[in-house]
Formats: sequence, structure tokens, C-alpha cells
Amino acid sequence: MTASATPVRLDRFMARANAAYYSSRDPFADFITAPEISQMFGELLGAWVAVTWQGMGAPTPFVLAEAGPGRGTLMADALRLLARVAPACYAAARVHMVETSPRLRDAQATALAPHADAVTPAWCGAVADLPPGPMILLANEFLDALPIRQFVRTAQGWDERSVVGEVFVTAPATDLPVGGPLATRDVPEGEVLETCEGALVIARQLGRRLAQGQGAALFIDYGYDGPGWGDTLQALRDGRPAWPLARPGMADLTAHVDFAALGAAARAGGCATWGSVTQGAFLSALGLFPRAAQLARNQSPEVARQVSEAAQRLVAPDRMGGLFRVMAMTPPGMTELAGFEGCAPIAPSPADMGKGG
Ligand code: SAH
Repeated sequence: MTASATPVRLDRFMARANAAYYSSRDPFADFITAPEISQMFGELLGAWVAVTWQGMGAPTPFVLAEAGPGRGTLMADALRLLARVAPACYAAARVHMVETSPRLRDAQATALAPHADAVTPAWCGAVADLPPGPMILLANEFLDALPIRQFVRTAQGWDERSVVGEVFVTAPATDLPVGGPLATRDVPEGEVLETCEGALVIARQLGRRLAQGQGAALFIDYGYDGPGWGDTLQALRDGRPAWPLARPGMADLTAHVDFAALGAAARAGGCATWGSVTQGAFLSALGLFPRAAQLARNQSPEVARQVSEAAQRLVAPDRMGGLFRVMAMTPPGMTELAGFEGCAPIAPSPADMGKGG
């Protein structure tokens, strides 16, 4: 990708940079995600799928979808667990991967090869293209890769950031997104507020789908819940933080997920939302520590230490356990959801309908 001399709106710059990045680079040389840290992550999500599917009345078949599946590790670990402990759920699953990068689709096909006959994996490019019917959708570190816009609060209204070469320029915003956090948050002058229209569109689509049919969607990502603001755009290149506007396509660009806006958009579509809760609370509730103890049993001290270190990394409050949050979306009226014990679902409300996120 070449730098532009005319201003490019930040979301368009980020979309192009990330499309180039994911289609040409191995993202896992630059960052490590929870499923790549330990098989326990995908296994626990597999257990969540089995319990949730039972709670839906065990629809057969059902769509088991993952958005932004990277190397396919999470789904492969989840399927291995399902085959072993929930064979009826495994037999009912039709796997659909939402992935835009041809290179990562190939890696995912390789990871799923042992399960290909049972779950007939298929690929599509967008959540909206997933087939109809009962569905469970998983997404880990997917939303953070979607393009954001950045608005700066001024005395008069909002400026918007664009990119020229390797620097930001700001100009009064012309087409402000309708509704959403821009309309509802009291942001101090000079502060940046980010919006991720792609994430809100997906949440609204899922909200509508889950209001009308069976299913559940689970989003895990780093982010914040509540009426926050601030510049969270970041880049990782060669495993190190880099200036996000330099050498587009060579670095992974991400932004924190605004779970308050995501939940409001989903409820505007008509579904209920759960959480967000921290990843640490979620994985602990699903039984991370008993699973770690089981994996470490009869192993060398070194392997036992590695398992325990991976568990800590996933749940410790000052590590991924506190930085990452988990939100679920379900049809309204569901009263229980694994991993969200003690957390009441938020029902769709007329206020959310008006806000649209
Ligand atoms: N979930 C994986 C990988 C996270 S990296 C893990 O936890 O390891 C982000 C993933 O989202 C990659 O697979 C990337 O190709 C995919 N992705 C990024 N933007 C996308 C888009 N607009 N549509 C579909 N997939 C996208």
C-alpha cells in the first residue's frame, strides 16, 4: 500500500491497511491470541457451545459459526472437545467460518481437516452471509480489527480525523453517524471518541436474527464497557508497538471494542445481551482451573508449570483476564447462560431502539 497525499478518512485507511495485512502477513508473528496461548481456551468455548446448544433445545442441525477465526485453532480445539464429550452436538454442527483473507482460509481448512467429514466446514465473507436457522456464533479478537472512525469534540460539534502520509489531519466532520455514542455521550472538548460502524451493523443484524430465531453469539475482545472515550488505535509490527499510520499493511491495526455501544446496537435489533464480564470471570466460571489441573496431571513439572502459566495469563486481572471482556447476545426471555452466572441479561428496550447503538 502506498501513502496518499490527499486525506483518507481513518476508517478507510484502516480497512485497506488491515485487508493488505491479513492477506499478506502471518498475523501470529506479531501477536498472540488466547486460543494460541492454550488449547484450554477453545476447549472451554466448545463446552460453552455444548451447554448453550442444549439450552436451545438441541436443534439439529445447527450453524456453528466463527467470525475472524485466524489460524482456526479455537474452532479445532472446540470441535475436538465436542467430539469427545458432546457427540450429539458435534454431529449436529455445520461449521461456517467468516473470513475475508484467502491465506487464513487455507490455514483454517488445514486446522479443521480432522473434522471436515463430520462438520462440513464452509466459508463466507460476512456475518450477514451466514445461512439461516439456529446458530451459535463465536468471535475472539474479531471486532478489534474492524475499521474505526475518530471524532474530536470541539466547541461547535465534532471534527473528524483523516490520514495524509503518516500523519493525522482533522476537519469538521461532514456525515456524522446517526445515533450511537456520538449522539449520547457527553465528551469533553478536545477528547477523541471512536465509532466502529462495522461492529454496530453486525450487532444490529445479529440482534434482529436472534429476536426471531434460536441462537446465541459470543464476542470476546479487549475493550471497555460504559460511556468511555479516548484514542485506542494501536499497531503491532514485528511483535512491537508501532506508529499506526506508518507502513500501512505491514502492521496489525486494532482499536478497543466499545461494548456499551455494541450491546445497545444488538438490543436495538431486538435481542437480549449478557455482560460484558471480564474474560477472567467468564473462563473461571466455565471451569478453567479444573481443566488446567486435569491437563497438568501426570505431566512433567515443566509441562505442569506451562499449563499453570497459560491459565494465569488468560485469567489474571492485570493480564488478558482483565483487559479482555466477554459479551453474549441471545433471544429475549432466556434466563440462564453459561459463564454469565449472577449476571442478569439486559432486555431490548425502546431506549436502545431509538439510540441504535
Ligand atoms: N480469532 C483469531 C484471530 C484474530 S485476528 C484468534 O483468536 O486467534 C483477526 C481475524 O479477523 C483474522 O482471521 C482476520 O483475517 C479476520 N478479519 C479481519 N477483518 C475482517 C473482516 N472485515 N471480515 C472477516 N474477517 C476479518
